Amino acid sequence: MKKERVGILGGTFNPVHNGHLRAAAAVRKRFSLDRVLFIPSFIPPHKESAGIASPEERLRMVELAIRGRAAFIPSAVEIRAKGKSYSILTLNRIKKIYPRAWTFFILGVDAFLEIETWREWERVLKQCLFIVVTRPGYRLRQARKVLGVAYRRRVRSVSRLEKVREQWFLGTRIFLLSIDAADISSTEIRRRIREGRSITGLVPAVVEGYIHKHGLYQKPSPRKMRSLGFPSNESARKPGHG
Ligand code: ATP
Ligand code: MG
Repeated sequence: MKKERVGILGGTFNPVHNGHLRAAAAVRKRFSLDRVLFIPSFIPPHKESAGIASPEERLRMVELAIRGRAAFIPSAVEIRAKGKSYSILTLNRIKKIYPRAWTFFILGVDAFLEIETWREWERVLKQCLFIVVTRPGYRLRQARKVLGVAYRRRVRSVSRLEKVREQWFLGTRIFLLSIDAADISSTEIRRRIREGRSITGLVPAVVEGYIHKHGLYQKPSPRKMRSLGFPSNESARKPGHG
């Protein structure tokens, strides 16, 4: 029987947007993944502030965004764990659920460039495969530079026409996949909302509706800001995914 292929897309998803969906769809197609798990990271409550979505809200938006796409699955593993979201722990949990599958960590280049800050990143790299995708503003080949020489030969650029072969999964650790990425970020979405501008087309309509209905990412009142201990207006600090 063919070994199952499971993609893991982690992030803060604050909020999930069409760039995430497009990347997940492109990777799924090229690598014939059976499923892609969307895993919002836990952000400790004290790091949140007025106008920033709670873990439950971020998970809910992911659920809404991928509803109806059977291969995309929301996962609460990191939110339920309630600690800092370490990729190694997440991976171990996923591997318990899919013990016989090929597992692929899907990341934009921007996120991959921070891999060395992850806890036990080399163990993560040993235990699963990475698929690094284009992110506007970054060059895919920058991904090669962050790794030491030991990994140079473990990186493979996948061209647009090549058929992905299972035998590659034995030698290669990191695939660089050029996709037609959308120039969208959650930061930009939060900023637009604060400024009262439209986010139509940047997130699925159901997510847009949810954001407005719940008043997410609105500019908090100055009083609320002070009560949270923020002297200025940018409060959306976001811990990385490590
Ligand atoms: P923020 O601006 O808050 O950092 P973000 O848009 O970068 O949000 P994240 O939740 O940080 O979204 O990203 C989760 C993962 O999805 C990361 O690996 C990131 O590189 C990738 N990603 C995010 N947006 C895109 C996009 N437009 N195209 C391709 N990959 C993306
Ligand atoms: Mg990001």
